[in-house]
Amino acid sequence: MLPKFIDAHVHFNTLSEQKMEMAVKHDVSLLSINTNIPFFISIEEQEAVIHQLQKKYPGRLQYITSFDFKEWGKPGFAKRAIQQLERGLANGAVGVKIWKDLGFDYKDKNGNWVMIDDPVFEPIFQYLVENDILLIGHQGEPRNCWLPLEEMTVDSDRDYFRSHPEYHMYLHREFPSYEDQMNARDNMMKKFPQLRYVGLHLFSMEWSIAEVARRLEEYPNTHTDLAERVCHLQLQAMDNWQGVRDFCIRYQDRIIYGTDVIDDGSVEAGEIARRLEHLWQFHFQFFATDQVMSAPEFKGSFKGLNLPREVVEKIFYTNAKKLYQFSK
Ligand SMILES: [Zn+2]
Repeated sequence: MLPKFIDAHVHFNTLSEQKMEMAVKHDVSLLSINTNIPFFISIEEQEAVIHQLQKKYPGRLQYITSFDFKEWGKPGFAKRAIQQLERGLANGAVGVKIWKDLGFDYKDKNGNWVMIDDPVFEPIFQYLVENDILLIGHQGEPRNCWLPLEEMTVDSDRDYFRSHPEYHMYLHREFPSYEDQMNARDNMMKKFPQLRYVGLHLFSMEWSIAEVARRLEEYPNTHTDLAERVCHLQLQAMDNWQGVRDFCIRYQDRIIYGTDVIDDGSVEAGEIARRLEHLWQFHFQFFATDQVMSAPEFKGSFKGLNLPREVVEKIFYTNAKKLYQFSK
């Protein structure tokens, strides 16, 4: 039996009710993150879906807005982005997302890659700071993306990049490196220390809790989330159970739980609902119990972290409730 909690990282882009009924069954609330992903519907359409779900399931869903790059390269880019954000925030979004397309997709007029610390984005960050608006960011990719297949830490990444060599950055040295991605993000946080920022996916430093801890120490206005990266904590718990447990306890006010389940209509609605239920139970078991477990992403077994009840409650509920302004 799961306690009341929040899955603070999903992408709900369809009106299917099965996932919401599953949330009602387990008394789960959710944060849907509207994102500028080419194969998603537009940011405005994503928002319209959430508004309809909110009407039907009051109090269950909050959402994050974003801006697109349709005007990229034009002089009014930042101004238009801010207008797009103002619209989303006025409609009820509780923060702003920047996705990894910034860092992989856009170049300046000299043909150089544009990264998140480029001056062109400064008016946007200034606007967020001045209005105390939360920014959440997925910058870069798991470090495995830049490693040869045999050095990757989890089978799930190895399988994915074997079948998608076009995204395997180890093979594409013309793109920014892992270090470039991480440095650009750190620079941005350095330049805007008052900016409230959530480094999603363990700041893309999933391979090392020490690296994640260093960011949380250096940038006190930041949080991190576990979305789609719990397996990397489980992997580190095989050799360093105590270290992973201490990390969760030390940063109990800064870590937020989420699954990163995407419902874009490509998977059957009942399957999405069952996937959510499975992940919620599996992840809760890892953080809250001391059972010996194994994960589909790698070989071997590890023990649940058996965190104190109040720590589990913060990671699974209280931190997200405060940060993303849930009413219950
Ligand atoms: Zn996501």
